[in-house]
Amino acid sequence: MEGIDGSGKSTQAALLQIALERLGYNCVVEKAKNNNQNNALKKFKDIFKISTDSIAFMFLYQALHRQQYERTKAMLDAGNIVIADRWNMSFFVYHNIKGELSKKPKHFLQTLNKLAFEGLDPDICCFIDVPVDIALKRRIVRGDVIASLEEESAFYKQVAKVYHELLVSKAHIVINGALSIEVVHRQILEHTLTMINKG
Ligand code: ADP
Repeated sequence: MEGIDGSGKSTQAALLQIALERLGYNCVVEKAKNNNQNNALKKFKDIFKISTDSIAFMFLYQALHRQQYERTKAMLDAGNIVIADRWNMSFFVYHNIKGELSKKPKHFLQTLNKLAFEGLDPDICCFIDVPVDIALKRRIVRGDVIASLEEESAFYKQVAKVYHELLVSKAHIVINGALSIEVVHRQILEHTLTMINKG
């Protein structure tokens, strides 16, 4: 699942897991970090004075990506379907926009990405496409603390733009995430089952 914050990735990952398990598949959701870990990460950043646009922050994220990869690989090897709540597309999007890596040649990004994810690409990548203002409203309802709506909106517009530029593979499915949770779920399930049945 890929998409900007508030697009519905976690919601859809959970629903897809339930649906696939009902159909008899062993299925897990893997996310780079859950809410508790996110809070711990924020504390860690503060204690070590790591700013979000530093190289140190990139390495910190690289560690989380790698851990997500390790867990995912183990689960795949054990015969599970893995639903990744963000994968390497997020890595490219964020490092294309923010921090020192955005200023480096693109092969830097590709090499680092390979180091973390070992070139393990998803069989299907659902990009949940939601206008930034809708995603922001959902995040406010969810309880996210947003310091500046203007800045956040400008940043996520950029994120959405880079996501769209990266949607080039046949494995990428664009889903209209502004539709209801149920409709989005049905579309994602349909695409997933088509992919599974193709083998
Ligand atoms: P993400 O994981 O992409 O940040 P979430 O799955 O946490 O997004 O969804 C953000 C919020 O929006 C949650 O409160 C969720 O219940 C709500 N939400 C998700 N999808 C939809 C939808 N299609 N329509 C309305 N609200 C939604």
